[in-house]
Amino acid sequence: MKSPVLTNQDKPIPASLTHETVLSVHHWTDKLFSFRISRPQAFRFRSGEFVMLGLFAEGVPLLRAYSMTSPSWDDTLEFYSIKVPHGPLTSQLQHIKPGDKLLLGKKATGTLSLDSLTPSKSLYLFSTGTGFAPFASLIRDPETYDKFERVILTHTCRAVDELAFGKSILTALKTDPLVGELTNNCLLYFDSVTQEPYRRVGRITKFIENETLSNIIGQPPISQNSTRAMICGSIEMTQDMSTVLKKLGLSAGSAAKPADFVVERAFVD
Ligand SMILES: Cc1cc2nc3c(=O)[nH]c(=O)nc-3n(C[C@H](O)[C@H](O)[C@H](O)COP(=O)(O)OP(=O)(O)OC[C@H]3O[C@@H](n4cnc5c(N)ncnc54)[C@H](O)[C@@H]3O)c2cc1C
Repeated sequence: MKSPVLTNQDKPIPASLTHETVLSVHHWTDKLFSFRISRPQAFRFRSGEFVMLGLFAEGVPLLRAYSMTSPSWDDTLEFYSIKVPHGPLTSQLQHIKPGDKLLLGKKATGTLSLDSLTPSKSLYLFSTGTGFAPFASLIRDPETYDKFERVILTHTCRAVDELAFGKSILTALKTDPLVGELTNNCLLYFDSVTQEPYRRVGRITKFIENETLSNIIGQPPISQNSTRAMICGSIEMTQDMSTVLKKLGLSAGSAAKPADFVVERAFVD
């Protein structure tokens, strides 16, 4: 199929954006794909942050927030995307191919950064769906393991095949020359699905409250003394998870006021 992506390479772009080249694309399911683009030398970000990304549609930049899944040290930028039926951006973005041009904001931002948390022993990264994206960045950054002895990543999706991108990153990490050894010692992974049979079916809040999570990963239950956390998912998930963490004595923080946990919505409803 010919790409319908409207990447007008000759058109002048706003000063806040750069034009980047698509390097590779991988379709994980009919609803999810990941891609790599070139990284401008001047583009700086902290692992876990997001940026505005998009393309020209009818001559006008069409941009959406996207978390980098690649770590801050990577030479290229990787993203993980939903395909929203009739979504203004993703109905076009899903057709990109290597060589196409995308628009990238010059400034990254976000609350899911290590600087937003006070020091502790364990870091929990709670995600649903594409909320996995910022954590794919953080688990590939050695700084995460400098700051925390133990990193526990949870990913909950509707269907089993929606876990595939995350699993491929975890598999590649095992032999990663930079962080492979660190992750083999420090990183624990807990997955579940909500809408079809799997080894674990249910929401992460249920697995925390009935202590399945701590039993399966072999770690003490979450407590303010030893746990910091980041949450990224739907509005319902971020609200429910925040309530659970607050009940356990953790308080919400931000870059301006580091505390026990930080939250970012994976999309706006
Ligand atoms: C801080 C932040 C970071 C984000 N990071 C990512 C990311 O890394 N990957 C990504 O795919 N999206 C991400 N998003 C969502 C993204 O900005 C767009 O909403 C998404 O690309 C769809 O764009 P669209 O124009 O096709 O549809 P939109 O008009 O933007 O969205 C239409 C509807 O689709 C649903 N929707 C949108 N995005 C998602 C999603 N990711 N998962 C489930 N349902 C969704 C919502 O109900 C939304 O109202 C992020 C959003 C925010 C606020």
